[in-house]
Amino acid sequence: MTFASDLAHAVHGGDRRALSKAITLVESSKADDQEPARELLALLTPVARASFRIGVTGVPGAGKSTLIDTLGGRAIADGRRVAVLAVDPSSRESGGSLLGDKTRMTHLSSEASAFIRPSPTLGVLGGTAGRTREVITLCEAAGYDLIFVETVGVGQSEERVASMVDCVLLVLLAGAGDELSSMKRGVLESADLIAFNKADGERARGVEADAVSLRASLGISRASRAPDVLVLSALEGRGIDVLWGALLKEQAEAERRGTLQLRRARQRQAWFEAALQEALQGVFATSPELTALRAAAAQDVESGVLSAPEAAQRLVTTLLARRSD
Ligand code: GDP
Repeated sequence: MTFASDLAHAVHGGDRRALSKAITLVESSKADDQEPARELLALLTPVARASFRIGVTGVPGAGKSTLIDTLGGRAIADGRRVAVLAVDPSSRESGGSLLGDKTRMTHLSSEASAFIRPSPTLGVLGGTAGRTREVITLCEAAGYDLIFVETVGVGQSEERVASMVDCVLLVLLAGAGDELSSMKRGVLESADLIAFNKADGERARGVEADAVSLRASLGISRASRAPDVLVLSALEGRGIDVLWGALLKEQAEAERRGTLQLRRARQRQAWFEAALQEALQGVFATSPELTALRAAAAQDVESGVLSAPEAAQRLVTTLLARRSD
């Protein structure tokens, strides 16, 4: 038994500490961790169970964590096992976390059927964002069948998340007129479901009005199916049953149309392409000579001495020549 096979066994058995350890391993960019991480994924990918993956996006403070906490509790009541992952685009660059502290999910954190992976801590090598697919696979192998991937609604992280999940839920704030007009149209239209949160207290009426006008404008602008616009209060639990029902419907329809399977196949393909890129990068990184050649080529491209395709081709030729020596 190797370290990886012991760990794989424990993860598959549903041991949460083992799952945390496994995630840390696949997120690591330390050279020594790469082989056990690959072995672990090779063992666990075939046993990963089918899950429904929901991307939850929205500006900080919209109520994403609160919503996942409440909605996750609802799902667990239906017998689901829930994992929550965070993709935080800010943690590596600025050191700050836009997603905050996931341990605030007070309901879910006390549930035996829930697993919460907090935002990557500062200085974690490799960063979670790059390994989200792998982490999802580990959670599926541990038996989680409903996976929330939470991200803030800014640029790239959002597109990355959309390519990994089955359904994107956009959480909007009440009275978000300004937010909506500054939000890229594409963000709104790429969502499968839109939830106006914080429809409670004095705000409730205003939220309903916002929802009505958004429904109208989406209905006009989008030729294909417009996303459902729901109104809810994550804090008070209002509208949660309707949202859960809408998500189950999304899942059932995707399964019926075969789009879930098709999407999984495409996601695996994208995973392969990303892994291949990474493996190739790794080949260059393992040899100081190749690293130097690559740096020199990059410099020549930068200064305009060499075209990018030519530089790339030369490097590949060098690499192949070395391999066949
Ligand atoms: P996130 O940054 O999008 O994850 O937002 P949080 O879930 O951390 O919520 C931000 C703040 O809004 C917290 O103080 C929550 O208690 C509050 N909040 C979240 N949902 C609701 C809601 O439905 N109604 C009200 N009134 N407050 C809420």
